Amino acid sequence: IKKIAILTSGGDSPGMNSAVRAIVNTAFKKGLEPYLVYEGYLGLTNGNFKKAEKSDVKLIGSLGGTVIYSARFPEFKKVEVRKKAIEKLKEEGIDALVTIGGDGSYIGASKLTEMGIKTIGLPGTIDNDIASTDYTIGFHTALDTIVRSIDQIRETTESHNRATIVEVMGRFCGDLAIHAAIATGAQVLSTSERKLTEEEIIKESQKARKEGNRSIIIIVSEYLYDVNALAKKIEAETNIETRATILGYPQRGGRPTAEDRILAGRMGAFAVEKLIEGETGVAVNIVNNKLTTKDIMEVVSMNRPNKDELFKQYDLIK
Ligand code: ATP
Repeated sequence: IKKIAILTSGGDSPGMNSAVRAIVNTAFKKGLEPYLVYEGYLGLTNGNFKKAEKSDVKLIGSLGGTVIYSARFPEFKKVEVRKKAIEKLKEEGIDALVTIGGDGSYIGASKLTEMGIKTIGLPGTIDNDIASTDYTIGFHTALDTIVRSIDQIRETTESHNRATIVEVMGRFCGDLAIHAAIATGAQVLSTSERKLTEEEIIKESQKARKEGNRSIIIIVSEYLYDVNALAKKIEAETNIETRATILGYPQRGGRPTAEDRILAGRMGAFAVEKLIEGETGVAVNIVNNKLTTKDIMEVVSMNRPNKDELFKQYDLIK
């Protein structure tokens, strides 16, 4: 391979820029020509890319979001659209692509592999919902943001003798919620893996109050409840004054933590090395602090690891 394109796709995550920087710098070190694709698969299809310069990636490693932008581009599921993208790559003589994104982005990459482009995927998503890797790029930054926010919410909740429901991201993967619950000592936790009924939440809140807690923090993953209605219900049934806070997009933003920058940097350098060695159609993972690759379609169809031990530890600690 001679020319490699880099894109970020799906939800942005802190650390994506650190990965882009690492890929560009490693490519130059290895004598390759890196290209930056703007707005994910949308830009790939429209030929919205340019040859990278070293100056493009200077100082970007500490920035949140993605400086090469992202896009949701469902049209990429159509083969005619992907053919157009491949034509654009061929016109420029680009033979390989690094995709940084979540599982949807991985499927897009694997479809391009089937059509003759060499690809490699990096896990860029805050949810930590990619089963083959211990951690995804952005997870630790989002977790830190959540923990800091809950510490602040805890102060007002304690001052006012209340309960607060905190809704966090992670629709199908409760890793942000459970890790935040362990870190903050939240008394009640509900995620897609272990969803409580509203009645169970009420009971656990009452129990927490009986055990002498002035402040009760209830962490729930997004899309499980109407949290404002649930707060009213808790208040009506328990007499505990209850509020709801949806943390929302601040969880996605912010400067990446050192941990995410290092993970992204290592994965980016590793991805370029693996492409040069001839690997394609694979995703990069970190498992027990070792970098590995695995077939992208296998990654997408893997079941996420069982979280029972984490839930057990949370139950013991809270
Ligand atoms: P996040 O987990 O942060 O949402 P994601 O990568 O899973 O990230 P998606 O919106 O699912 O986010 O996918 C990103 C892009 O990947 C889509 O907008 C589309 O361009 C492409 N993509 C997703 N699924 C497919 C598919 N089945 N075939 C081809 N391309 C796809």
